Amino acid sequence: MEIMFQTIGKCNLNCYFCAYNFLDKDQLDKINKMYMSLDTFKEYAKKCIDFGFDEFQLTPIIGEPLLDPTFLEKIEYLHTFKSLKRVSFFTNFININEPKLKRLLFDFPKLTMTISVYGLDKETYEETTGVDIFERFITNIGTLAKLYKPTSIPLEFFIRCCWHGFDNTLKAMITILSRAMPFNSEYYKRNNLAFLNWNGNWCGLVSDNTFPNQRKEHNRGGICWYSLIDNSIDPEGNISLCGACDIEKKTIIGNINRQSLEEIYSEDGLYANCYIKQQHNNIYNGCCEKCSEHHIPDQKSLKEYSRRYKWLKNILE
Ligand code: SF4
Ligand code: SF4
Repeated sequence: MEIMFQTIGKCNLNCYFCAYNFLDKDQLDKINKMYMSLDTFKEYAKKCIDFGFDEFQLTPIIGEPLLDPTFLEKIEYLHTFKSLKRVSFFTNFININEPKLKRLLFDFPKLTMTISVYGLDKETYEETTGVDIFERFITNIGTLAKLYKPTSIPLEFFIRCCWHGFDNTLKAMITILSRAMPFNSEYYKRNNLAFLNWNGNWCGLVSDNTFPNQRKEHNRGGICWYSLIDNSIDPEGNISLCGACDIEKKTIIGNINRQSLEEIYSEDGLYANCYIKQQHNNIYNGCCEKCSEHHIPDQKSLKEYSRRYKWLKNILE
């Protein structure tokens, strides 16, 4: 069972399609100041572990986790729990140095790191992110190549846009990565390259023509996987239904400071009744109402969550 944490809200890039560009000034100020201290993180994480969460996604809804000065300590703390299965996060891989990277690659066996790639060269990188920083990115990829060993944590590369068409993007990206990464079969067996050539609409905040291949609303049915795996805790203890898309926090299912997780995830709670049971009946409330995304859960995930939430088991039967 997975839970997300929003430890930081600021970012060092400014991608043109990112929800940052669509928030008003007050929302933007608030998100830029958002930070979860190590002590608060430990307190919330312990409650999550005790409740039964065993996978932690540390990617903020927007923001760059490697700007968090206590990020490594947070990962280290999670690794003190035997029940931990996985910790993961996405990064733009700009704010990294060799000692920090060594720790990430070798000290945390349950960690998976996904590196977002925002350009093929200086021009495309700047066009996407608004920042002239491609050389730093490539230097950091070179450091990764130097340090990488088959015993490193699994890595993924997430190609965030298609520049000059899908085929050209793929060819150029392979050229960059094979130049920067050790070209051996073990490396490619363990590490993935994934494309995202569409953008969601951030629950209706971002207009439909922001991105060349913006995903339009499509037919949806049943429970959205993200409403199971992407509940997300912010520094004030609010738990959003969807930490992947709901940047405006339209839908809060509870607060970890004021309620127990047992209460929030109980049969009588808001989460079960207003969202999950409704989604099962193809009714999408709150942040889901205008969302252009829908992710179908696999049977294995549904079974796993049903073991913890008896009410979910009951509605699925
Ligand atoms: S790196 Fe991520 S959070 Fe930062 S501006 Fe780009 S899309 Fe937004
Ligand atoms: S429908 Fe959209 S907002 Fe709702 S959980 Fe799924 S991805 Fe998130």
